[in-house]
Amino acid sequence: MNDTFLQRLEKVEQRIAVACEQAGRPRDSVRLLAVSKTKPPEAVREAAECGVRLFGENRVQEAQSKIPLCPVGLEWHLIGHLQTNKAKVAAKFFQMIHSVDSLKLLQALECHADITLPVLLQVNVSGEAAKFGMKPDEVAAVIDAANQMQKCEVHGLMTIPPFSPDPEKTRIHFSALRNLRDQLQNETGTPLPELSMGMSHDLEVAIAEGSTWVRIGTDLFGSRN
Ligand SMILES: *Cc1c(COP(=O)(O)O)cnc(C)c1O
Repeated sequence: MNDTFLQRLEKVEQRIAVACEQAGRPRDSVRLLAVSKTKPPEAVREAAECGVRLFGENRVQEAQSKIPLCPVGLEWHLIGHLQTNKAKVAAKFFQMIHSVDSLKLLQALECHADITLPVLLQVNVSGEAAKFGMKPDEVAAVIDAANQMQKCEVHGLMTIPPFSPDPEKTRIHFSALRNLRDQLQNETGTPLPELSMGMSHDLEVAIAEGSTWVRIGTDLFGSRN
């Protein structure tokens, strides 16, 4: 990890480009979200100087204190679990929420958003007990409810699969999310173009399975303590 941020960014960009090519997908069908959680504003500034504009944070409190110290003009996405009582602050600081995991939370965001708020619904496709996320059979009703809202717009789905050192073992969870998306588009008639899946060690598999947002922390900013 002695590389500069720019060198690490170039490596990640290269991996994304190769994965897109192998999947027969255009490079611009996948966006890179730089996950700056636990890293200081200086790290964000360095990334911004390298041209990164899209940042992900997993805690509202951390984001609330960090974002005002970062360059302006960046886009911030929430990727971690959000408590309903923090929906107001989240709607103020984030331009997109990847981790909406209940109807109650969606309603709270709808209440507090001033302008259109794109969201993704987090689904626990693996059924792993420790994970946040809706059950697959709960998602359709939430999409129907969102279609009646004025501010919140569901753009797709997100998942965090159980960790496996072998990214190939994660493939079934990514394909499950994509299949669920296809099924929900048919069932609800709502376009769901976005799939937020893939992290530092499994972005290639995620892109092969249709990811449109890869959320990369470690391979850009170094390991977290
Ligand atoms: C921390 C985090 C990431 C980034 O993980 P890395 O393995 O460091 O790339 C992605 N998604 C979520 C939800 C996270 O909390």
